[in-house]
Amino acid sequence: MAVQSPKGMRDILPPDQPIWEKIRKTIKNVADFYNFFRIDTPIAESVDLFVRSVGEDSDVVEKQMFYLEGRTGSRLVLRPEGTAPVARAYIQYGLSHLSQPLKLYYEGPMFRHEQPQAGRLREFHQLGFEILSSENDPVYDAQIILAGMRFFEGLKLKDVTIVLNTIGCRTCRPNYRRHLLDYYKDKKKELCADCARRLATNPLRLLDCKEEKCRELKKEAPIMADYLCSQCSAHFKSVLEYLEELQLPYTLDHYLVRGFDYYSKTVFEYTIEGVDFVLGGGGRYDYLIESLGGKASPAVGLAIGLERVIEVLKSRQLTVKVKTKPKLYLVYIGALAKKKSLRLIEDLREAGLDVAESLGKESLKGQLRAADKAGSPLALIFGQKEAFEESVIIRDLKTGAQETVPLKKMVESVKRKMK
Ligand code: AMP
Repeated sequence: MAVQSPKGMRDILPPDQPIWEKIRKTIKNVADFYNFFRIDTPIAESVDLFVRSVGEDSDVVEKQMFYLEGRTGSRLVLRPEGTAPVARAYIQYGLSHLSQPLKLYYEGPMFRHEQPQAGRLREFHQLGFEILSSENDPVYDAQIILAGMRFFEGLKLKDVTIVLNTIGCRTCRPNYRRHLLDYYKDKKKELCADCARRLATNPLRLLDCKEEKCRELKKEAPIMADYLCSQCSAHFKSVLEYLEELQLPYTLDHYLVRGFDYYSKTVFEYTIEGVDFVLGGGGRYDYLIESLGGKASPAVGLAIGLERVIEVLKSRQLTVKVKTKPKLYLVYIGALAKKKSLRLIEDLREAGLDVAESLGKESLKGQLRAADKAGSPLALIFGQKEAFEESVIIRDLKTGAQETVPLKKMVESVKRKMK
């Protein structure tokens, strides 16, 4: 059997490249307007980075990491997400000395060892916006959410909704955690195995479980909103006010927690009508940089799954058509002309003319057919005689009209005919 691409990892073939190009252009437009600077981090990082940030008992760290074994026994992982690497770089390069807030964005592949299914791959691409700052001002939460919405709008996805919650801070979350534990303690037997285990380590994760029986139990669980400290409560209220000021559509989901440990206060996701998966999500991570060894720097960010966005664009016939400008077609006859064609193509290039060819094809008919297929308006026919006489035949492929011109006049004549 022929070798296949790894399970859950896709090739992006030429017909799909225009939509990826459009996505990257849209990212750049949004980033430029809102003053986000691009950052690229390595594809691999230390295991420790994700254990200390995303969390040891998160699905990503517990079940989904791709490990790389070095020859000397060193161990790395393919990055499963982009925020922790950005935080690592922020500390490593002392980026807190740059003017703050520091707005960064990235776009690139992430890797998670999951069971591939609709909207779930092992290699996928994420766009991320991050605002790292010395203040934890709610205006930055709103700006991050806005940047994501502007990205969707740039792709003509106008019905995206923001789903929002707050998961509190170090002060108020422990109290909520206690109430959650209290609620679940006599329901342990009804939980799935993962949740039964997580009850002891991270009960908030129970709210994120997709198992039917756990979702049922969640319906009566206490909500964070009832236990927020005054600071978190005011912060969340401001975020909502800013979203209203921006007229961004949102709904509240008191059970939204998201799967990573580093989040605090605001968490959110982007959903869209008629699609089962979420397009992206994010939140505040006020303690992440500190927990990785940096000085306390509150921050907020988002990640959007680009394959999911493309899937929605395709289902709505919103992908871009390939608009390639038709090129001139160089057609040769005989070995001498073939050899001289190489130089001729370079002359055309230097004159700023786009030219296509199929120099490996011997037959005139085959080459003209290829020119026709490519939609070329003009063919330059370079035969044995023309090669000797330093001339070329310019043929209009629509009308069949043709004229012989000296090579010296070729560029000028072609330009006139292409007008
Ligand atoms: P997360 O980093 O888990 O917060 O995910 C942010 C976004 O990345 C999700 O909303 C998805 O759009 C996308 N995403 C996460 N995991 C996958 C995956 N396995 N395959 C495709 N997209 C993914």
